Amino acid sequence: MVLIDQGRCIGCGICIPYCPRNAIKLDPNLKKAYIVAEECVECGTCARVVMCPRDAIVGVVEGYVREVRAHFSDPYTLHPSTGIPGRGTEEMKTNDVTGRFKRGEVGFAIDIGRPLVGVTFAEISRFIKVLNTVGVMWEKANPILYLLKGGLEMGEFPEELNNVKLHSAVLEFKVPIAKVRDVIEKLKYLAETTDTVFSLGIISRVDDDFTIPVIEVLRELGLEVSPWAKTNVGLGRPLVE
Ligand code: SF4
Ligand code: SF4
Repeated sequence: MVLIDQGRCIGCGICIPYCPRNAIKLDPNLKKAYIVAEECVECGTCARVVMCPRDAIVGVVEGYVREVRAHFSDPYTLHPSTGIPGRGTEEMKTNDVTGRFKRGEVGFAIDIGRPLVGVTFAEISRFIKVLNTVGVMWEKANPILYLLKGGLEMGEFPEELNNVKLHSAVLEFKVPIAKVRDVIEKLKYLAETTDTVFSLGIISRVDDDFTIPVIEVLRELGLEVSPWAKTNVGLGRPLVE
Protein backbone atom coordinates (compact mmCIF):
# COMPACT_ATOMS: atom_id res chain seq x y z
CA MET A 1 0.00 0.00 0.00
CA VAL A 2 0.94 3.66 -0.12
CA LEU A 3 3.06 4.37 2.96
CA ILE A 4 4.50 7.34 4.79
CA ASP A 5 8.12 6.77 5.72
CA GLN A 6 8.10 7.60 9.42
CA GLY A 7 11.83 8.23 9.41
CA ARG A 8 11.47 10.98 6.83
CA CYS A 9 8.12 12.59 7.73
CA ILE A 10 8.34 15.86 9.68
CA GLY A 11 4.57 16.15 10.29
CA CYS A 12 4.10 19.32 8.26
CA GLY A 13 0.57 18.17 7.30
CA ILE A 14 0.82 19.33 3.67
CA CYS A 15 -0.35 15.94 2.41
CA ILE A 16 -3.51 15.68 4.54
CA PRO A 17 -6.00 17.72 2.42
CA TYR A 18 -4.97 15.91 -0.75
CA CYS A 19 -6.48 12.58 0.30
CA PRO A 20 -10.05 12.15 -1.05
CA ARG A 21 -10.74 9.53 1.64
CA ASN A 22 -9.44 11.54 4.60
CA ALA A 23 -7.16 8.57 5.25
CA ILE A 24 -4.02 10.54 6.11
CA LYS A 25 -3.87 11.43 9.80
CA LEU A 26 -1.40 13.29 11.91
CA ASP A 27 -0.19 11.72 15.13
CA PRO A 28 -0.10 14.71 17.53
CA ASN A 29 2.35 13.03 19.88
CA LEU A 30 4.82 11.71 17.35
CA LYS A 31 4.22 14.65 14.99
CA LYS A 32 4.21 12.27 12.04
CA ALA A 33 1.60 11.62 9.37
CA TYR A 34 0.32 8.09 8.82
CA ILE A 35 -2.22 6.38 6.55
CA VAL A 36 -5.25 4.47 7.88
CA ALA A 37 -5.08 1.29 5.81
CA GLU A 38 -8.82 0.48 5.95
CA GLU A 39 -9.75 3.90 4.56
CA CYS A 40 -7.04 4.18 1.92
CA VAL A 41 -8.39 3.08 -1.48
CA GLU A 42 -4.95 3.19 -3.17
CA CYS A 43 -5.96 6.02 -5.50
CA GLY A 44 -2.32 7.11 -5.56
CA THR A 45 -3.14 10.83 -5.31
CA CYS A 46 -0.87 11.49 -2.33
CA ALA A 47 2.10 9.74 -3.90
CA ARG A 48 1.51 11.38 -7.29
CA VAL A 49 0.47 14.93 -6.43
CA VAL A 50 1.79 15.97 -3.01
CA MET A 51 5.09 17.80 -3.11
CA CYS A 52 6.21 16.29 0.17
CA PRO A 53 9.19 18.32 1.35
CA ARG A 54 10.78 15.15 2.69
CA ASP A 55 9.83 12.80 -0.13
CA ALA A 56 8.28 10.61 2.55
CA ILE A 57 5.26 9.24 0.66
CA VAL A 58 6.08 5.90 -0.86
CA GLY A 59 3.73 4.54 -3.52
CA VAL A 60 4.05 0.81 -3.12
CA VAL A 61 0.98 -1.38 -3.69
CA GLU A 62 1.51 -5.00 -2.73
CA GLY A 63 -0.79 -7.95 -2.21
CA TYR A 64 -4.01 -9.01 -3.93
CA VAL A 65 -6.47 -7.03 -1.80
CA ARG A 66 -4.46 -3.78 -2.03
CA GLU A 67 -4.08 -4.28 -5.78
CA VAL A 68 -7.84 -4.71 -6.22
CA ARG A 69 -8.37 -1.39 -4.43
CA ALA A 70 -5.88 0.28 -6.77
CA HIS A 71 -7.46 -1.19 -9.90
CA PHE A 72 -10.76 0.51 -9.10
CA SER A 73 -9.40 3.72 -7.59
CA ASP A 74 -6.21 4.73 -9.37
CA PRO A 75 -6.84 6.08 -12.90
CA TYR A 76 -3.25 5.26 -13.83
CA THR A 77 -3.61 1.56 -13.10
CA LEU A 78 -4.42 -0.81 -15.95
CA HIS A 79 -7.21 -3.16 -14.99
CA PRO A 80 -6.01 -6.74 -15.60
CA SER A 81 -9.43 -8.13 -16.57
CA THR A 82 -10.14 -5.64 -19.35
CA GLY A 83 -6.81 -4.00 -20.10
CA ILE A 84 -8.47 -0.61 -19.65
CA PRO A 85 -7.18 1.99 -17.18
CA GLY A 86 -9.24 3.60 -14.41
CA ARG A 87 -12.24 1.71 -13.20
CA GLY A 88 -11.70 -0.59 -16.10
CA THR A 89 -14.89 -0.09 -18.04
CA GLU A 90 -15.83 1.67 -21.22
CA GLU A 91 -19.28 1.99 -19.73
CA MET A 92 -21.82 2.86 -22.38
CA LYS A 93 -19.93 5.49 -24.27
CA THR A 94 -19.06 3.45 -27.30
CA ASN A 95 -22.50 2.20 -28.20
CA ASP A 96 -22.34 3.56 -31.74
CA VAL A 97 -19.50 1.13 -32.41
CA THR A 98 -20.28 -1.79 -30.11
CA GLY A 99 -24.06 -1.81 -30.45
CA ARG A 100 -24.60 -3.01 -26.88
CA PHE A 101 -28.01 -1.41 -26.69
CA LYS A 102 -30.59 -2.22 -29.34
CA ARG A 103 -33.83 -0.43 -30.04
CA GLY A 104 -36.35 -1.22 -27.33
CA GLU A 105 -33.59 -1.67 -24.75
CA VAL A 106 -32.48 0.72 -22.03
CA GLY A 107 -29.02 0.70 -20.49
CA PHE A 108 -28.15 1.66 -16.93
CA ALA A 109 -24.81 2.63 -15.36
CA ILE A 110 -24.88 2.94 -11.59
CA ASP A 111 -21.86 4.79 -10.26
CA ILE A 112 -21.70 3.79 -6.59
CA GLY A 113 -19.59 5.56 -3.99
CA ARG A 114 -18.85 8.84 -5.73
CA PRO A 115 -18.32 11.52 -4.70
CA LEU A 116 -15.96 10.79 -1.82
CA VAL A 117 -18.08 8.32 0.15
CA GLY A 118 -16.66 5.05 -1.17
CA VAL A 119 -18.28 1.62 -1.28
CA THR A 120 -17.46 -1.85 0.03
CA PHE A 121 -17.69 -5.05 -2.00
CA ALA A 122 -20.36 -6.24 0.45
CA GLU A 123 -22.55 -3.31 -0.58
CA ILE A 124 -21.84 -3.83 -4.28
CA SER A 125 -22.93 -7.44 -3.75
CA ARG A 126 -26.21 -6.24 -2.24
CA PHE A 127 -26.87 -4.01 -5.28
CA ILE A 128 -26.25 -6.96 -7.62
CA LYS A 129 -28.56 -9.26 -5.67
CA VAL A 130 -31.40 -6.72 -5.54
CA LEU A 131 -31.11 -6.00 -9.27
CA ASN A 132 -30.94 -9.73 -10.06
CA THR A 133 -34.53 -9.98 -8.84
CA VAL A 134 -35.57 -7.88 -11.84
CA GLY A 135 -33.68 -10.12 -14.27
CA VAL A 136 -31.33 -7.45 -15.66
CA MET A 137 -28.84 -8.33 -18.40
CA TRP A 138 -25.39 -7.50 -16.96
CA GLU A 139 -22.59 -6.03 -19.06
CA LYS A 140 -20.15 -8.91 -19.18
CA ALA A 141 -17.04 -6.75 -19.81
CA ASN A 142 -17.52 -4.92 -16.53
CA PRO A 143 -14.46 -5.54 -14.32
CA ILE A 144 -16.41 -5.69 -11.05
CA LEU A 145 -18.20 -8.79 -12.29
CA TYR A 146 -14.89 -10.58 -13.00
CA LEU A 147 -14.32 -10.70 -9.25
CA LEU A 148 -17.55 -12.49 -8.38
CA LYS A 149 -17.33 -16.07 -7.18
CA GLY A 150 -20.04 -18.54 -8.07
CA GLY A 151 -21.47 -16.54 -10.96
CA LEU A 152 -23.73 -13.56 -11.40
CA GLU A 153 -26.77 -15.33 -9.99
CA MET A 154 -25.11 -15.60 -6.58
CA GLY A 155 -23.76 -12.04 -6.59
CA GLU A 156 -21.10 -12.93 -4.01
CA PHE A 157 -17.48 -11.79 -3.85
CA PRO A 158 -14.66 -13.74 -2.17
CA GLU A 159 -14.85 -13.36 1.60
CA GLU A 160 -11.54 -11.49 1.77
CA LEU A 161 -12.96 -8.69 -0.42
CA ASN A 162 -16.24 -8.08 1.40
CA ASN A 163 -15.00 -5.34 3.73
CA VAL A 164 -12.63 -3.84 1.18
CA LYS A 165 -13.58 -0.28 0.29
CA LEU A 166 -13.26 1.20 -3.19
CA HIS A 167 -13.35 4.81 -4.27
CA SER A 168 -16.29 3.90 -6.52
CA ALA A 169 -17.62 1.09 -8.69
CA VAL A 170 -19.73 1.16 -11.82
CA LEU A 171 -22.38 -1.50 -12.44
CA GLU A 172 -23.76 -1.73 -15.96
CA PHE A 173 -26.72 -3.61 -17.35
CA LYS A 174 -29.59 -3.34 -19.75
CA VAL A 175 -33.28 -4.26 -19.73
CA PRO A 176 -36.15 -4.19 -22.20
CA ILE A 177 -37.94 -0.86 -21.87
CA ALA A 178 -40.92 -2.66 -20.30
CA LYS A 179 -38.73 -3.43 -17.25
CA VAL A 180 -37.56 0.14 -16.60
CA ARG A 181 -40.24 0.67 -13.95
CA ASP A 182 -39.10 -2.43 -12.04
CA VAL A 183 -35.48 -1.27 -12.16
CA ILE A 184 -36.31 2.23 -10.91
CA GLU A 185 -38.40 0.75 -8.10
CA LYS A 186 -35.42 -1.34 -6.97
CA LEU A 187 -33.05 1.60 -7.27
CA LYS A 188 -35.33 3.73 -5.11
CA TYR A 189 -35.27 0.95 -2.53
CA LEU A 190 -31.46 0.80 -2.72
CA ALA A 191 -31.21 4.59 -2.39
CA GLU A 192 -33.26 4.43 0.81
CA THR A 193 -31.35 1.55 2.36
CA THR A 194 -27.72 2.10 1.35
CA ASP A 195 -25.13 3.82 3.50
CA THR A 196 -23.30 5.14 0.45
CA VAL A 197 -24.37 7.26 -2.54
CA PHE A 198 -24.87 6.55 -6.22
CA SER A 199 -25.68 8.34 -9.43
CA LEU A 200 -27.53 6.92 -12.37
CA GLY A 201 -26.72 7.11 -16.06
CA ILE A 202 -29.27 5.90 -18.59
CA ILE A 203 -28.62 5.16 -22.25
CA SER A 204 -31.18 4.87 -24.98
CA ARG A 205 -31.12 4.98 -28.74
CA VAL A 206 -32.86 7.94 -30.34
CA ASP A 207 -35.78 6.83 -32.51
CA ASP A 208 -36.03 7.71 -36.20
CA ASP A 209 -38.43 10.54 -35.33
CA PHE A 210 -35.83 11.91 -32.85
CA THR A 211 -37.89 10.96 -29.80
CA ILE A 212 -36.41 9.04 -26.84
CA PRO A 213 -39.11 6.73 -25.47
CA VAL A 214 -37.51 6.12 -22.06
CA ILE A 215 -37.80 9.81 -21.14
CA GLU A 216 -41.58 9.57 -20.94
CA VAL A 217 -41.38 6.43 -18.79
CA LEU A 218 -38.99 8.16 -16.37
CA ARG A 219 -41.19 11.25 -16.16
CA GLU A 220 -44.16 9.06 -15.23
CA LEU A 221 -42.01 7.68 -12.41
CA GLY A 222 -41.28 11.18 -11.14
CA LEU A 223 -37.72 11.36 -12.48
CA GLU A 224 -36.77 14.46 -14.40
CA VAL A 225 -34.17 13.85 -17.08
CA SER A 226 -31.25 16.24 -17.23
CA PRO A 227 -30.97 17.96 -20.61
CA TRP A 228 -27.18 17.67 -20.27
CA ALA A 229 -26.70 14.31 -21.86
CA LYS A 230 -23.43 12.92 -23.07
CA THR A 231 -23.59 11.95 -26.71
CA ASN A 232 -20.86 9.86 -28.22
CA VAL A 233 -20.90 9.62 -31.98
CA GLY A 234 -19.07 6.57 -33.23
CA LEU A 235 -16.03 7.49 -35.28
CA GLY A 236 -15.09 3.93 -36.06
CA ARG A 237 -16.67 1.26 -38.20
CA PRO A 238 -19.54 -0.34 -36.25
CA LEU A 239 -18.77 -3.86 -35.05
CA VAL A 240 -22.46 -4.76 -35.32
CA GLU A 241 -25.20 -4.17 -37.85
S1 SF4 B 1 3.85 16.16 3.38
FE1 SF4 B 1 5.46 14.65 3.80
S2 SF4 B 1 6.55 15.43 5.59
FE2 SF4 B 1 4.62 16.54 5.48
S3 SF4 B 1 3.22 15.34 6.81
FE3 SF4 B 1 2.94 14.58 4.72
S4 SF4 B 1 4.36 12.86 4.55
FE4 SF4 B 1 4.98 14.03 6.35
S1 SF4 C 1 -3.52 6.52 -1.91
FE1 SF4 C 1 -5.34 7.87 -2.06
S2 SF4 C 1 -6.73 7.14 -0.48
FE2 SF4 C 1 -4.69 6.30 0.02
S3 SF4 C 1 -3.79 7.79 1.41
FE3 SF4 C 1 -3.09 8.35 -0.62
S4 SF4 C 1 -4.60 9.87 -1.35
FE4 SF4 C 1 -5.51 8.81 0.42
